[in-house]
Amino acid sequence: MTVVSREVVLKAENLVKHYPIKAGVLRRTVGHVKAVDGVSFELYKGETLGIVGESGCGKSSLARLLMRLEEPTAGQLTFDGVDVYAQKGKEMRRLRRDIQIVFQDPYTSLNPRKTVGDIVGEPFEIHTEVLPKRDRRQRVQQLLELVGLNPEHINRYPHQFSGGQRQRIGIARGLALNPKVIICDEPVSALDVSVQAQVVNLLAELQAGLGLAYIFIAHDLSVVRHISDRVGVMYLGKIVELGDEDQIYSRPTHPYTQALLSSVPLPDPRQRNSREQIVLTGDVPSPANPPPACRFHTRCWKAQEICSIEEPLLIERPDGESAHVSACHFAAPRVVV
Ligand code: SF4
Repeated sequence: MTVVSREVVLKAENLVKHYPIKAGVLRRTVGHVKAVDGVSFELYKGETLGIVGESGCGKSSLARLLMRLEEPTAGQLTFDGVDVYAQKGKEMRRLRRDIQIVFQDPYTSLNPRKTVGDIVGEPFEIHTEVLPKRDRRQRVQQLLELVGLNPEHINRYPHQFSGGQRQRIGIARGLALNPKVIICDEPVSALDVSVQAQVVNLLAELQAGLGLAYIFIAHDLSVVRHISDRVGVMYLGKIVELGDEDQIYSRPTHPYTQALLSSVPLPDPRQRNSREQIVLTGDVPSPANPPPACRFHTRCWKAQEICSIEEPLLIERPDGESAHVSACHFAAPRVVV
């Protein structure tokens, strides 16, 4: 892990994204999918903030908001103190260079008809001011080398590479414009377990060398553990717990985090047998109709009457130097094996 400064590079304040649900011949709005519903966090220079939650919790919508691929329903995002959603034209183009994304699926995110050189060099075609045309090929080869690929393979096509190599191509493309922040949207979910660690290690090495900050999105707590300095746990559009790696994995206070952790596979069979597993019943409710008050109350084994009446606030649970917050009326640390 890299040394993390306390200099904030990206700050989300109360981000909200509601998608209208249209119905009928007149396509009237009959409701809203509350994909992201009041998410706030700060990302420090050089750190990795993991964002974890089950599918449908709003992680990918959050990624799209952070990239400004969509406009928020409400809330603010600042990059190096600049209000991202207020930028237009040239300023926004300049800002786009600083925040890049690595997509989930290396099989579909790379155009099969383009060579690797064209794919990695694509950002230079869009941001032509960054590098003169004559220098681009050499820069692409440097980028391929940086991510552990053979620069001589610049003229090959995506299908000539393995899944892990394709994700390296996606990472090289993400690095082309020297960004300060990379949003990694489930970058290893589509890969074999044996390859996942290699890609995570590569991301960690690049971070140490280039001083990048990552938002690392995953549905599995075990994937983000080794790369994250801090972790935020999302449930139905909200962050329900956020703390540093040790706080989240050793002293989680929210029942949802505790349940997710209790199902993380353990390599040691003795630990596995002695661990008490918390089994969550039912599916994640629809974000179009989230349960009132605490959204987790329909699946929470600790739920009491107040949980369906009053929404718990995200408040501090002092247990170390870093801020550790969680949203639960009955938050209590639970040691997890
Ligand atoms: Fe469970 Fe109640 Fe805490 Fe929500 S507020 S997580 S329902 S105990």
